[in-house]
Amino acid sequence: MQIKIKRGDEFKAYKIEKAKLLLEALLEIKHNIDYTLAFDYGCKSKVCGTCAVRVNGKETLACAHRIKDGDEVEPLRYEKHLKDLKVEQASIQKIAQTQGYLHEFCEYTMDAQDEAKNDIQSDCILCSSCFSACPVLEVNQNFAGPYALTRAYRYAVDKREANAKSIIEAVQKDGVWDCTLCGECTLVCPKGIDPKSDIMQLRNISAQHGYFDPNFSNNFGGFDPNFTF
Ligand code: SF4
Ligand code: SF4
Repeated sequence: MQIKIKRGDEFKAYKIEKAKLLLEALLEIKHNIDYTLAFDYGCKSKVCGTCAVRVNGKETLACAHRIKDGDEVEPLRYEKHLKDLKVEQASIQKIAQTQGYLHEFCEYTMDAQDEAKNDIQSDCILCSSCFSACPVLEVNQNFAGPYALTRAYRYAVDKREANAKSIIEAVQKDGVWDCTLCGECTLVCPKGIDPKSDIMQLRNISAQHGYFDPNFSNNFGGFDPNFTF
């Protein structure tokens, strides 16, 4: 079978003899055909998230994707492109933007119900697939993106966080209200995380803290002298 890999501006075709999974195919090419092919991988078992790429326009982990004849493989979008399928995950800085981490620790004994609230969000492997799939980043590079918002949610509902308000404040600008709720991020997550739903939850928590959608306010909250029917 043949697969195509984006190298520079063009797709280059490679004949695959043995491999079944995409990562195996990339290693087969590197060992037998062209050692200059650049790509990243780590655990080879869907745990580290390092080998995320796009196949036929959809994000996937190379170690999990079963290749088909004619597959077209590209690097993730919006990250700093280094070479071939290799990118530098610049989007990791978005976690600082959303403040998706523990700020002020307070002692609290978590029960099963508390843990269930953010259990799945804690499984994020930072593969950046959801980030690459998000259409908002095509028009607004300042948008925090799905996984940084999921992480914000994970800590905002953690009972051991004594300053959740600062997280909620951090996701107002270029954050929760900029998401179109298209669900593309949820579709590609290899860990079954649902960033779209987490963003909706963050909107609810934002409203409880007195924040609201600025677009909604502009459209309906006041008189627009230029408005005509
Ligand atoms: S649901 Fe929101 S965060 Fe997810 S891909 Fe769509 S716009 Fe981006
Ligand atoms: S939320 Fe899912 S798709 Fe996004 S970075 Fe985490 S594991 Fe990857």
